Amino acid sequence: MGRAPTVAAPAAQPPKALRLYVFDCGVLNISKAGVERYHVTTAEVGETRMPVPCFLIAHPKGTLMWDVGVIPDRLVEAQAQRGARSNINPTAAAVVTRTLRSQLAQIGYNPADITYVAISHAHRDHTANLDEFASSTWLARPAERDFMWKENNERVDPSFYTKLRDSRSIALEADEFDVFGDGQVVMKSAPGHTPGHQVLVLRLPKTGRLMLGGDLYHYPEDLTLHAMPERERGPGVTEASRKALDAFLKEAGAQLWIGHDINFFSRQKHAPEYYD
Ligand SMILES: [Zn+2]
Repeated sequence: MGRAPTVAAPAAQPPKALRLYVFDCGVLNISKAGVERYHVTTAEVGETRMPVPCFLIAHPKGTLMWDVGVIPDRLVEAQAQRGARSNINPTAAAVVTRTLRSQLAQIGYNPADITYVAISHAHRDHTANLDEFASSTWLARPAERDFMWKENNERVDPSFYTKLRDSRSIALEADEFDVFGDGQVVMKSAPGHTPGHQVLVLRLPKTGRLMLGGDLYHYPEDLTLHAMPERERGPGVTEASRKALDAFLKEAGAQLWIGHDINFFSRQKHAPEYYD
């Protein structure tokens, strides 16, 4: 998560085969009370910090931006010396040192040229730069769209996406949406964490199949402890989503990537490197 020099590359050409880029969009420092909100203890998880990853999927037919950070780039630029800080809620403090825009520029992409934008869900740590992608086609689940502009919703920040209300959009009504029509990039409904929470399944030529799990899990220990926030507990939707997707992962032989797992994140390749 160190700082790297920002060099704008020439405009990227469509790749011959599918690629996945992982960006460092910051880190969340979670308090003890914050960890316990996930129904795990600090002793059980060990490392309590969470990374904030952003992803670019580059397909021969277009690009998809998936999750867009926790602090808007303009605020990161204004506070670049020390890293931008923001409390996303009383138990989670974000620190961001690099803009998403600069990381995209480094590999030859500009937000204005991205074909599609989508989020796993609308919480603050996944949506900060949505307005940068107002010229992309937004792939949106109606339940999440409603949640995003619901009155008195403290879990979101509508100032992050004022321009999206009127941007070109496709409403995802079915459980699955095949973004490029060839089965390589498929969004799957996974409600529970939020009403329209979703995950992204990729079929990469060398890396194989993997699922970007959004916030279906937060800490990797959630998998073995069957932990989830209080408001998601019970025989409700998160449990059903986990069960269905767990069966899918086994059947497909796909890896699960837990976005907020910091040990996993630190071992990953980050842009300009990529997975293919
Ligand atoms: Zn999150």
